[in-house]
Amino acid sequence: MNKQILPPSTIGILGSGQLGRMLALSARQMGYRIHVLSPDHGSPTGQIADKEYTAPYDDLDTVREFARGVDVVTYEFENVPAATAAACEEFAPLRPGAKALHIAQNRLREKQFFAANGLPVTPFAAVNSLTDLNIGLTRIGAPAILKTAASGYDGKGQQFIRQPEEAAAAWERVGKRPSILEGFVEFERELSVVAARGLDGRFAHYGVIENSHHHHILDISVAPAGLPRSVAADAIAIADTVMAALDVVGVLTVELFLLSNGRFRLNEIAPRPHNSGHLTIDACVTGQFEQQLRAVCGLPLGDTSYRQPAAMANLLGDLWAKGTPVWTAVFPHSDLHLHLYGKREARPGRKMGHLTALADSPQAAKALVQKVRNQLTGD
Ligand code: AMP
Repeated sequence: MNKQILPPSTIGILGSGQLGRMLALSARQMGYRIHVLSPDHGSPTGQIADKEYTAPYDDLDTVREFARGVDVVTYEFENVPAATAAACEEFAPLRPGAKALHIAQNRLREKQFFAANGLPVTPFAAVNSLTDLNIGLTRIGAPAILKTAASGYDGKGQQFIRQPEEAAAAWERVGKRPSILEGFVEFERELSVVAARGLDGRFAHYGVIENSHHHHILDISVAPAGLPRSVAADAIAIADTVMAALDVVGVLTVELFLLSNGRFRLNEIAPRPHNSGHLTIDACVTGQFEQQLRAVCGLPLGDTSYRQPAAMANLLGDLWAKGTPVWTAVFPHSDLHLHLYGKREARPGRKMGHLTALADSPQAAKALVQKVRNQLTGD
């Protein structure tokens, strides 16, 4: 019998950024206690946790001490080392699970997993040498993208290869590290499906969210994406297949490219709440962080319906270039919600917070977040 983990039990979070913070805020609201472990001190999550362990993830003595003090361990990023995950599992359940971590933290394993499960994957080749890269380019063709297999996010560790002659330079630029070559997908739209799977195997999803990126970093998300019903159903089925295959307990996000023929290519998965799902906090009956909490605690999943269409705009450190943003631009709008992550230093490209707008249509919500974000610099 799987027992439910009820308040005031303690949730352990590996990683201490904004995702951990928003999970901790939901958990606090429901009367849970929070312990967090990361190499940082005074972190976005640590600021609101009951206990903050500051240690490298490979300090397994501290990891064990952390895990001994909690009822369940979850993570807010996928690059948790396998030994850290295993040390936690000696003392508490680890959810969404070690298998999801293992697959999601390596782009090559991830693509192989998609292919093995019949999921629509971009053409890819494993690259461990310049020879592999040249062979891969002959098979896949250019343009293509060379990505380091491990620890890449927000476009880091990626090289666009326009023509085969650029192979040697790209191989140098990824540091000759184990990589994956992917065919360049001429997509029409970028989409995500944020979904949850309960301990009982039940599945819930937030429909299809449309995303636009700027310099490889998520810029704006809009929901619902407004796809034809059958196309949206295909996207949701992909999320369902991934989660069942990985036996996930928690929230997982699939990132998809939509082609002009209405078919998808699965780009990557994130076994956690996702930046594109932040709008669910204000727009849905149950936001993605409460959902994550419900799933990892073995509670029934919450209602994912939208109260209203919504759009989210990320607030990057660049907005602080000329000083603190003009927050007074936000508050006259009763349908706009400001979220700041408590990060002390604003750097270009650093995610400092986000704005969510609710409106009668996704387009109106998007126009509002964009307009108000533009006003934040006071120009
Ligand atoms: P990733 O870190 O893999 O999510 O890549 C970041 C962004 O780069 C994606 O959101 C896409 O905009 C773009 N991108 C990544 N892989 C491809 C691809 N195979 N074809 C076209 N665009 C891509």
